[in-house]
Parts: sequence; structure tokens; C-alpha cells
Amino acid sequence: MKKYAVISMDVEDWYHTYFPEKQVDRSQSLLDGLDVALDILKEKDIKGSFFVVGEIAEKLSEKLRTMDNNGHEIGCHNWEHLRPVTMPVDKFKEQLVKSKKTIEEVLGHNIEGYRAPSLGIDTERHKVVQELFGYDSSYVKPQKSHKYGTIKLDGFTELAPCIYKKGNFTEFEVSTQRIGNINLLLGGGYIRMLPWPFIKWMTRQYLASGRPYVIYMHPIDLSSKAIPRVEGESLDRYLRTHIGRKSMVKRFKAVISMLEEQGYEFVTFEELRNKELTDLEEQSVCGSQRHIVLKDLTT
Ligand SMILES: [Zn+2]
Repeated sequence: MKKYAVISMDVEDWYHTYFPEKQVDRSQSLLDGLDVALDILKEKDIKGSFFVVGEIAEKLSEKLRTMDNNGHEIGCHNWEHLRPVTMPVDKFKEQLVKSKKTIEEVLGHNIEGYRAPSLGIDTERHKVVQELFGYDSSYVKPQKSHKYGTIKLDGFTELAPCIYKKGNFTEFEVSTQRIGNINLLLGGGYIRMLPWPFIKWMTRQYLASGRPYVIYMHPIDLSSKAIPRVEGESLDRYLRTHIGRKSMVKRFKAVISMLEEQGYEFVTFEELRNKELTDLEEQSVCGSQRHIVLKDLTT
């Protein structure tokens, strides 16, 4: 079985990431981190999947069109980065429609992908996503933090490890590595904050399984600018936003090198869904000896 890696980024500014529900001075931007990511991907000739917060899509219109023309994939990351579970279903749907339409108008074509802010989505709201999009990448194995939601994939089939399908809709699980009784996320802030030897060991453990690798990043992780201080910000919040920022570019590149060494092929979600996933389906139907299991998740 081929090994696939998707490099994804949630395109949001610093205030979306850490202060979505607080009024802060938005005059400074850390979206330069998006350019840093694009430069690294260009250097490696990798195409990534980028989920954009709708309210900044017009501001970034020229950049998004260039990214789209260069083969990167653009998806949706809500309108103003509020976690779906914090909104009534009808308001969530309204914001999702608005965000999708805005991004599609900027690009001049439909988009298929979605990821929930902070992966904070539940089954009820996930059904709305299934109505509007072709795929989602918000599913994650249970987390201890209250901010993450829980999606029950009723009616989905596990087509390949961490890839689930129901009709024409595909769910891509965000990668985690089980450590003790915790499913630790292999992305963004965790790569930045945790000690590098531990991240390296954990990533190697995961890659040895050959499962699809889905990494998520944020512009704030790679930006070279200082994060603005916010009045009343707790010391805990301040430390969590600052730890490891200086070495993040190096770490991000090192993770890509590890994927290359392990023979992973880099694809966008849409490529994995449209082309490679079809191959996986055919393999699972035609070759029972292959290491692909069709597992019914309805029970
Ligand atoms: Zn986000």
C-alpha cells in the first residue's frame, strides 16, 4: 500500500486562533506565516490543502487565486473561526454557506473541503457539512480538552486506515499517536511546544504504521513576527502561544524530511479523494490479500 501525507494549514490570523470570541486590536497580522509555509512547500515541490477563514478570504483574494493556480487546494474553515459546537445549528449553517460562497467567488469555482475551527464539531453539525461539502477533515480520535468535539461516523465505512466514506462524502482523520491513554495530535502547536526528541520519536512511531499522515499547521506557528499582547491575557495562554516559535520552521522542515525518508507521497485531500482513494477502493474490492480493510462503522 502506498503511504500518503497531506500537509494542511488552517489559514487564520493570530486573533482567530487564540481570541475568536474576544475583541482585540486586529491591526497587526501574522499571516506572513502562510508565505513561510508556501515557500517551504515550493522548495520541496509539495502541494498542500489550505482551509481558509471566510472573513479574510477577500483580503487574501489575490494570494488565494495564485495558490489555487499553483496546484494548492483551498477549502473552508468557517466564517470567523467560532467553534461549530458553540453555535446553534441554523447559525452554523448560515455562516458555512456564507463562507463557502465567499471563497468560491474569490476563486471562481466550487470548493469541496472543510475543517472545523479547533476541530470543535459534533455529529449534528457534521451532517450540515456533509450537505454542503465533498469532504471534511475534522475527525480526530477522542481528546481530553473540552474544546474538541465528537463526531460519530454513523453509516461511514473505513475505506483505508483513517479515511472514511459515506456515499460521495469522505472524512479524513487528523493524525494522532496514542501515548498511554492519550491520543496526542501530530500537528501545529504540539510540534511547536513539545520537546523535539519526543515529537521525533512520536512521529516515527506513527509513520512506521504506514497510515496516512495528516498534519495541520497555522500561520501563527511559522510567522516571524511577535504575537501582540492582549490585555487580561493569562500567563498560561501567553506561554502556550510563544513556546517554540523560533524553532518551528526547522521542525516543520524536519517532519517533511522524515516523511520523505519513510517513502511517503505528498498529496492534497482532493487528490487523495478523487484519484488515490479510487485506487484504494479498487484494491480493496479486487485484492483481499492487500492490507486494506473495509470496516462497517455503523455499529
Ligand atoms: Zn483554526
